Amino acid sequence: MHSIHKIGKSFWYITSVSLTDRPILGMVVGSKKTLMIDAGNSEEHMHYFLNELQKREVPNPDLVVLTHWHWDHIFGLSALPDTVSIASKETEREMEKLIPFSWSDEAIDARVNEGVEIEFCAKAIKEEYTNHRNIKITLPDITIEKRAEINLGDVTCIVQQVGGDHAADSVIVYIKEEKILFLGDCIYPRMYAEKVHYTISETLRLLDVLETFDAETFIPSHQQPISKEAFDKEVVMLRTIAKYTEVCKGDLPTIVKEYENYVKRELTEDELETISHFADGY
Ligand SMILES: [Zn+2]
Repeated sequence: MHSIHKIGKSFWYITSVSLTDRPILGMVVGSKKTLMIDAGNSEEHMHYFLNELQKREVPNPDLVVLTHWHWDHIFGLSALPDTVSIASKETEREMEKLIPFSWSDEAIDARVNEGVEIEFCAKAIKEEYTNHRNIKITLPDITIEKRAEINLGDVTCIVQQVGGDHAADSVIVYIKEEKILFLGDCIYPRMYAEKVHYTISETLRLLDVLETFDAETFIPSHQQPISKEAFDKEVVMLRTIAKYTEVCKGDLPTIVKEYENYVKRELTEDELETISHFADGY
């Protein structure tokens, strides 16, 4: 189940849930305005977070930033009619494509068969929406092209589109005074594809951008907040596997062997999975 936590003076978040694919949602509380990060996978998800925050005397958000177009980050937006929503232009374009869709089991299954939807999300949507399928796609009020700086009063959020394999529209939110980098799903592989994959060039480009932020806490949406040390380790792993993918021309067994020689131990499940995503993206 979910729990609510606070980091620093101004940042609250709700933990993720894997069965229904609920991501972490964040709330940045300034002295003038409050900004929410991501809208959740349903109105229920959103309401749960807001209710829990109300008990802790955290106000409802004036603004909400969507990290990218995937269902689990945007379906809750219809529960925030009075909040100004912000997303990248590309996120808006992708969300527009969802408006005509029906969310009945049959319609979702048909889209999986056509290759429009993926099985992983279809399953999670059915787990989240057991009682109803009254899903309303609400488009963002404001779109940004590259970067926006939002002053909430004593705390500043930088919203910047960083892209990446997972979703080209991805934005991060950097909470300057707290040194928190809310990553959304940007460091994850591409899911909407025949095979889940990473590409070498996009991964290296994205990591270069992420490393320009002076952060102490990193938040990948479907895990839990991690320290700089843990993030740096992840970065080294991704960069190294990307390098060996290039050297070994995407040949899975050779990459595994080379990477094993490099780390001088048996590989973890996470490393093996990452290597196969790189091999599939080659
Ligand atoms: Zn995603």
